[in-house]
Amino acid sequence: MADSSQQDGLRLIPAVDQLLLRPRIVDWVRRTSRGFVVAEIQLLLREVRTGIQSGDPGWTSTADIGSLESLLEARLESRLLPTLLPVINGTGVILHTNLGRAPLSQAAQRSLSSLSGQYTNLEYDLGRGGRSQRDRLLEQSLKEVLGCETATVVNNNAAAVYLVLNTLARGKEVIVSRGELIEIGGSFRIPDILALSGATLREVGTTNKTRAEDYASAIGPETALILRVHPSNYRMVGFTHRPELSEILELAWRARLPMVEDLGSGCLVDLGPYGITNEPLVQKSIAAGVELVCFSGDKLLGGPQAGIIAGSARLVDQVRQNPLMRTYRVDKLIYGALEATIASYKTGRALEEIPVLRLISTKADEIRDRSRRFARRLRLRIPSGLDVKLIQGSSVVGGGSCPECHLPTSLLALESDRHRPNRIEARLRAQNPPVILRLEEDRALIDLRTVFPEQENGLLDGLVKALA
Ligand SMILES: *Cc1c(COP(=O)(O)O)cnc(C)c1O
Repeated sequence: MADSSQQDGLRLIPAVDQLLLRPRIVDWVRRTSRGFVVAEIQLLLREVRTGIQSGDPGWTSTADIGSLESLLEARLESRLLPTLLPVINGTGVILHTNLGRAPLSQAAQRSLSSLSGQYTNLEYDLGRGGRSQRDRLLEQSLKEVLGCETATVVNNNAAAVYLVLNTLARGKEVIVSRGELIEIGGSFRIPDILALSGATLREVGTTNKTRAEDYASAIGPETALILRVHPSNYRMVGFTHRPELSEILELAWRARLPMVEDLGSGCLVDLGPYGITNEPLVQKSIAAGVELVCFSGDKLLGGPQAGIIAGSARLVDQVRQNPLMRTYRVDKLIYGALEATIASYKTGRALEEIPVLRLISTKADEIRDRSRRFARRLRLRIPSGLDVKLIQGSSVVGGGSCPECHLPTSLLALESDRHRPNRIEARLRAQNPPVILRLEEDRALIDLRTVFPEQENGLLDGLVKALA
C-alpha cells in the first residue's frame, strides 16, 4: 500500500508527450528520431514508477519534469557513446595488444580518411577495366621493400600461419623444434594451430637444445616443410642451442623441402642502435633463401592489423588459391593504411614517420626533459598531500617483440597520502579520454614515452581532475 508521499511522487510523473514538448528534448528528436527518444522516455518513466513504488525516496524527488528532462538527456547521450575510444597510453608499453597495438602514421591516417567514404578500385583493374585480385594489391610495394618474389595480405599473422600450414602441409608432417612450440597469448599455440590446419607436428630436439642433426634425422617421405618460429615473448638463456638459419636452409634445400618462418613481429629496419637486439629482419630471412615468411602488420612494422605472407611465387600462389583465403581477406581500409605504412619504408623515412619506431627511437634524455617539464606543470595544479616524483625506469616494446629489451626511460610516480595507487589508477581510467597507467611495486607510474606530445594537455587535465 503506497503512502501519501509515494502517491504524490506517482502523480508528478509526466506523460511521454509532455517530455516530448520540452525544448531540449525537441532538439534531440530533431537530431535523432522520435522513435529513439520515445523508447528512452518510456524506459525512464517505467523505472521512475517502479522506483517510487518500491519506496525509494530518491526517485520521488526526481519525478518532476525538469529533473526528468536532464536525466533523459544524460541517458540519450550515454546511449550514443562509442564503446571503442581513443585512450592515453601511459604504460610505456609500445605495442600494447590490449590498447590496439600500433598507432598509425599520419600518412596511414590520411589514407583511411580519403578512402573510407568512397568507392575504390579494391578489386578493379583500372588499366584493363574489369575485375582484378585484391590479394595482389600490395604485391609491388612489398616486393620492393622485402625483396621477395611476391607477397599477399591476410587478416592477421595467426591467420597467415594457419593458411600456410593448411595449404602446404595438410595431411603431412611439419618439423618444428621443441624449443619453438610456443604460446603467444590470446590462446595462439603453435601445436594447436598446426593440428587445426590438418598437419601433423613432428617435434625435434629438446626444450633447450635443438641441433641441425635433429632436423635432418626427422626428414622423411611424409615431411611437408620445416617450420621455424620466432620465440616471440619468451627467451631461453643458459644451456641452449638453436641452429643457425643457414644450417636449416641447407638441410631443407638438400631435401627439396620448403622452409617456412613465422617471424612474428615483422621488423623491417635494424633497431639495434635503439636497444632492440635479436629481432630478425624480414628482408634478411628472404635474402637468405627462406621460401616463405609470415609476420604481423601491427607489431614492429607499425601498421594496421594484418598478416603478411611473402616469399617464392610458387608457394605464395598456392596459398592464394586456398579457398580459405576468402575467410581471411582484408578490407580496403587495411590495404590503404598498410600501403601508406609500407611507403615510409620505401622512402627510407620509417623511423621518422611510423609512430611505433619513433617511440622506440626516442632518446631517454628527451623523455626525461619532457617528464620534468610535465611534472612542473602538474605540481602547480594538484592539491596538497599529493606529489609527483621523477624516477628512472624502462619502457618495453611489447607485442611479443624483444622481451628482454628495456628502453631506459623516466617515470612520473604519483604519490598521494589520500588515495591508494589502485584508486588513482581507476580514477584515471574513468577520465575522458581514459588514461591507462602502470601499477608497479604499489606505485602509480606514467611513462611519457608512449604519450604523444599533443596528448600532454589532455593528460594533465585528466590527472588534475582524477586527483582532485
Ligand atoms: C604475434 C605473433 C603471431 C600472431 O600474430 P597476430 O598478428 O597477432 O595474429 C604469430 N606468431 C608469432 C611468432 C607472433 O609473435
